[in-house]
Amino acid sequence: ASLAASGVVRRGASAVLDTLRGHEDELGRLDAVAGDGDHGRGMVRGASAAVEALNLLPSSTGVALLLRTAGRAWATRAGGTSGVLWGAGLEAAADALGDSRDRYDDQSVQEAVSAFADAVVQLGGAGVGDKTFVDAIVPFCEALARTSADGAAATWRDASDAATQAAQSTAPLRARRGRARTLAERSVGTADPGAVSFALAVSALADVEIG
Ligand code: ADP
Ligand code: MG
Ligand code: MG
Repeated sequence: ASLAASGVVRRGASAVLDTLRGHEDELGRLDAVAGDGDHGRGMVRGASAAVEALNLLPSSTGVALLLRTAGRAWATRAGGTSGVLWGAGLEAAADALGDSRDRYDDQSVQEAVSAFADAVVQLGGAGVGDKTFVDAIVPFCEALARTSADGAAATWRDASDAATQAAQSTAPLRARRGRARTLAERSVGTADPGAVSFALAVSALADVEIG
């Protein structure tokens, strides 16, 4: 009974994978500046694992089980810090959505995205300004929650544009979390790879047909 929304999740996972594949080398180069250079590879492995796991589930599978399965596969196969955090975020989003609907209103989507953010913050312990992908997630959530003067809800596209800007704005910061922390000085001038990949992922989702 949840065909429309589950289709969005399935097409969304494929769109994210395509985008990450297209930026795998670039993300690796960003991570090589002060980290270990595996961020592009890890994100592609995680998203590939998610898509493969989704393809094994019957078409009747509801949204929450899809997201939970995708999150577990991602965390298990990606390797690395970002994989564990993405997996936890996806599982938290699954819990927030619940399984039984075929459409979700803006409010529910916002709550799922907030649950993703909360899980990443809780597990990783990073705050805004620590030069991690939290620096892109938080502005994304804030933009999604904003309504315009005439009461219209912000679009996913608006929010992903905010995430893209925020990711680029991490460049002058010094890394205070994760592997890059030990080479924090070297990270100055380069955007955080995890923030950039998050912005790429949500931007890819903005192009997914809802219908
Ligand atoms: P690893 O550092 O294990 O090789 P990746 O290269 O895949 O993992 O991911 C690095 C990214 O993970 C960083 O750019 C940052 O965005 C994110 N990250 C690392 N540690 C944390 C943390 N504690 N909280 C949030 N994000 C983090
Ligand atoms: Mg790395
Ligand atoms: Mg690594």
